[in-house]
Amino acid sequence: MQLYDTAARTVRPLEPAGDPVTLYVCGITPYDAAHLGHAFTYHVFDVITRRLLAAGRRVRSVRNVTDIDDDIFRVARERGVDARALVAFQVSRFDLEMASIDILPVAVPYASAHVPEMVDWIRRLEAAGFAYPRDGRVYFDTARFDRYGRLSGLSREEMIALSRECGADPDDPRKRDPLDFILWQPSLPDEPRWPSPWGDGRPGWHIECSVIATHELGATVDIHGGGDDLVYPHHESEIAQTEALQDDPLARHWVHVAMVQLDGVKMSKSLGNLVFVRDLVAKAPPGAARLVLAAHHHRTAWSYTEDDLDTARERYSTWCGALSGDRRLDPEEAAAAEREFFARLDDDLDTPGALGVLDRIATRGSRSQAAGGVPAAPLMARLSGVIGVELDPVATLPLTEPRRVS
Ligand SMILES: [Zn+2]
Repeated sequence: MQLYDTAARTVRPLEPAGDPVTLYVCGITPYDAAHLGHAFTYHVFDVITRRLLAAGRRVRSVRNVTDIDDDIFRVARERGVDARALVAFQVSRFDLEMASIDILPVAVPYASAHVPEMVDWIRRLEAAGFAYPRDGRVYFDTARFDRYGRLSGLSREEMIALSRECGADPDDPRKRDPLDFILWQPSLPDEPRWPSPWGDGRPGWHIECSVIATHELGATVDIHGGGDDLVYPHHESEIAQTEALQDDPLARHWVHVAMVQLDGVKMSKSLGNLVFVRDLVAKAPPGAARLVLAAHHHRTAWSYTEDDLDTARERYSTWCGALSGDRRLDPEEAAAAEREFFARLDDDLDTPGALGVLDRIATRGSRSQAAGGVPAAPLMARLSGVIGVELDPVATLPLTEPRRVS
C-alpha cells in the first residue's frame, strides 16, 4: 500500500515494522460536538484499517481523548458545568456518531490517565537539557532541537504566526524563544491538578500524545495521523519532545487529512456553520453517509453541500439494488474489477477511484451470463465493506403504508 507521507513529502510504500500494524490518530478534544470534518478524518483511518485487515494484517489502533485542555476548562467555566461531565457528554455523543457510520472501534485512552508518565517524560527532557522551568511552568527549548520545523516545512515566521493564531502565546516573556512550547503549567483554581517537581499543575497538549502513543504502541508507531491542521504545532512538537529522548522516529509514516468546508466556508465552531454526522444519517442510510465521505480524496479539501448527500444516496441505492436479483459477472471481468478496486485504494487511498470501480460492478453483468459466472451480489457486499459501506437490500424497497389490523 502506498500513502502520502507528510514527512517525506511524497507518496511512498507503507512499511509497518511488524504485526500488528500500529496506528495512532489524534482524537477529539471533547468540549464541543464533533462535526463532519472530524468524521472525514476518522473515516480515512478506518478505511486504511479495513484495507489492512482485508490484506490479512492485524491492526492495533489508538485514538486518544484530550481531556486536559484549555478549551474544555474554558467552556465548562462558561457554561457553569463540571469539566468531567462536559467530557463524558461529548465523548458519548462522539462515540454514537462514529458508531452510527460504522467506524470500527479503537482503543481510546484518556490523557488524564497518563499524567504521572508525562511528568516523568518532562523530567527526562529537563535532565537532557531540552526543557527549562520558569515560574511553575516548563517549556520545551526548541532551539536545542535542530529539526524543529522540518515536518511542516514552515519558516520560522510562519510558525510564530501560526502559534499565535492557536493561542500558544509566542510573546510569553518567560520563553527563551517564541517557538518554545508548554510542557507543564500551573492549574487555575477550578482546574484539575497533579503533583510535579515544578509544583502542582497539568501537562501541555502536545506531551499528552507523545506519552500516550509510545506508552500504548511502543517507541515508533507505523502510522501517526490526524487532521492537517495538526501538522504544526501539534505534530511538529510531538516529534521534537519524543525524538529528543529516543533515537528512533516517533512515526514511520505521517498521514494527514484535509479539512472539510460548508458551502465554501471553513467549517468551524466559532463560525457556527457545522454539519454533523447525525444530520446526514437523519436523511439517509449510514452507508450513504459513508459514501459522502469516501467520494472525496483524503488530501483534498472539499466543501459539503446537500448535493453531496443526494449523489451519495443515489449511488447507495444503485449499489443496494445490485444485491437483489442474480446478476452474474464474467469471471475475468470480476477478478479484474477486484484487482482494480484494491489497486485504487493502495494508490494513496484513492477512494473516489475505488467507488468508480464499484459503480461499474453494480451496473454490469446479466442473468444470462453462463452458470459459471461470478455472482455480483457477494462481490459487491465484500468490496463495499472494505470502505465501510454496509449495503442493505431492504434500503431500496419502496415504502408502503403499514397494514391496518382490523
Ligand atoms: Zn495528538
